Amino acid sequence: MERIFNFNAGPATMPLVVLEEAQSELLNFKGTGMSIMENSHRTKEYEAINSEAEALVKELLDVPENYRVLFLQGGASTQFAAVPLNLVSAESHADYILTGAWAEKAYKEAAKFVKTNVAASTKDENFNRIPRIDEIKVSDGPAYVHLCSNNTIFGTQWQSFPDLGDVSLVADMSSDIMSRRFDVSKFALIYAGAQKNLGPAGVTVVIVRKDLLEGIPSTIPTMLRYDIHAKNDSLYNTPPSFSVYMVNLVLRWLKNNGGLAAAEKRNAEKAALIYNTIDSSEGFYRGHAVKDSRSLMNITFRLPSEELEKKFAAEATAKGMIGLKGHRSVGGLRASIYNAMSLEGCMALAEFMKAFQSNNG
Ligand SMILES: *Cc1c(COP(=O)(O)O)cnc(C)c1O
Repeated sequence: MERIFNFNAGPATMPLVVLEEAQSELLNFKGTGMSIMENSHRTKEYEAINSEAEALVKELLDVPENYRVLFLQGGASTQFAAVPLNLVSAESHADYILTGAWAEKAYKEAAKFVKTNVAASTKDENFNRIPRIDEIKVSDGPAYVHLCSNNTIFGTQWQSFPDLGDVSLVADMSSDIMSRRFDVSKFALIYAGAQKNLGPAGVTVVIVRKDLLEGIPSTIPTMLRYDIHAKNDSLYNTPPSFSVYMVNLVLRWLKNNGGLAAAEKRNAEKAALIYNTIDSSEGFYRGHAVKDSRSLMNITFRLPSEELEKKFAAEATAKGMIGLKGHRSVGGLRASIYNAMSLEGCMALAEFMKAFQSNNG
């Protein structure tokens, strides 16, 4: 069977070697006579996976000693509530930077529970860029400033993280975690749903500074409490064990392929193939994101008409490139090219774009 090039935004394409490895041990995991998904999460086999995955997150991202790595459930969307409930007291408040639909959802969810403030927003420009540092107005003493590192729907990405002085940064990194290097110590907390860059849906990685685990209110739901999950090494209740197992295989794959320095290089090369095609199309393809805010993970672009956009998606599908239809809030097309999308996939798309333009331009 032929594998297709899957440009879906999430759940997204997985490294083929990881799928093959999972397949090879699906029926009999390391001589246990059963699949890892049939195994108890209290066995030494599962505990080894849980701790290897934690160690690999720390190693790949160079996470400092004073942080914990947790594997939780409920997707990034659950973190929209968990973050303010854990970190903002009744006397305090939180700031949000609005750069897209997910950042806005995080903000609206937090506003249900705690006092909030919008520190910056590019909504008036249909989120086509990341705000400049002078546009960010941090309020007086927020518990944290929340940002979304990569805006999956709009195709923008923070090129570097803002230095806002003595405030805690919290980031939703669901769609670009492990795609590049960055300084974890700039953040109080980072969270990411796995289904874009880390593996299948079902598990959310949370990286939290240890001092924040003190003083979490005992009145919030147990399953949302970071201190409870940390104390139990992410084994407070039944974890999404198969998802964590898959994430562990993906992290091993990343490590075996040169870690984040190499991933970053591959991702820049892949994205350049497509952005260069857009930029040299003399206006046939128009990128949604302003150039200095372009995402290396999600490339959003328009064609001269909606008919051509439909035709483009249909012809691409016929050529084995799926998932290119853009989100309705931006329209047009979106190519999601996470870590697991190959250079070959991006070359095929760039070639197709050129051919489509010469047939329809
Ligand atoms: C996909 C996505 C989410 C939502 O994740 P769920 O796991 O479906 O809750 C949140 N934030 C960003 C940046 C995303 O890309």
